[in-house]
Formats: sequence, structure tokens, C-alpha cells
Amino acid sequence: MDNFPTRYLLNRAAIEKNIPLFHGAVYGFDGQVTTIILGKTACLRCIFPQAPQPETFPVIGVTPGVIGLIQAREVIKYITGIGELLAGRLMIWDGVDSKLEEVAVERNPDCRDCGGYWRDR
Ligand SMILES: [Zn+2]
Repeated sequence: MDNFPTRYLLNRAAIEKNIPLFHGAVYGFDGQVTTIILGKTACLRCIFPQAPQPETFPVIGVTPGVIGLIQAREVIKYITGIGELLAGRLMIWDGVDSKLEEVAVERNPDCRDCGGYWRDR
């Protein structure tokens, strides 16, 4: 999805249906990916509590390819159980300098999307 309101809708649907959400986003040469699993990881709203201001931004055509392939790889790994998922980790792709880094993402106990799931346990 290319906007946060729709991403938040998917986030809530994934929580309600208890299905994983494979998040990817791009901006210019850069992108990010994480795998969200209810009961194990932060949800999208935990990671991004506020949507950024809507804007029109450039995207280099190959960036969605890079990020989309990583998302697809995550789905395959989830289905097959092979490897380590990007669960609890946000992978950040710097396409200008061709560097990958990752940051740990943590659940927000007061999250308005997934907080209720955790309070009920
Ligand atoms: Zn959350």
C-alpha cells in the first residue's frame, strides 16, 4: 500500500483475523520491510503510531522491486518455516549507498490497534 490510512486498515484487519502482515514501504531509492505477527511482534501502529503527512514523493522503479521481493521472500519463509523472519525487526534498505541495516521494533502496550489483544491475555 502506498499510504498510511490503508496500511492501518490492513493492520487492524490482520489483528482481527490473526493473520500475519508483511509490511513494505518505499521512498525514492530507500525502503523498509518487517513481518508483523500478532502475539509475537509489534504491530504496524506500534511501530508507526502517527501517519506522516501525505505527500507526493519520488520512487525509483527498482526500489519497489527490491522491497517487494524481500516481502515475498518473507511470505515464503513464513509458509515453509524456513529461516528467520524479520519479526520484531525493521529492515531498512538504503538504495543510494546499497546498505542494509535493521532496527529492533517493540510492542507498545498502549497501542490503540493491538493493545486490546495484549490486555486480554
Ligand atoms: Zn500495536
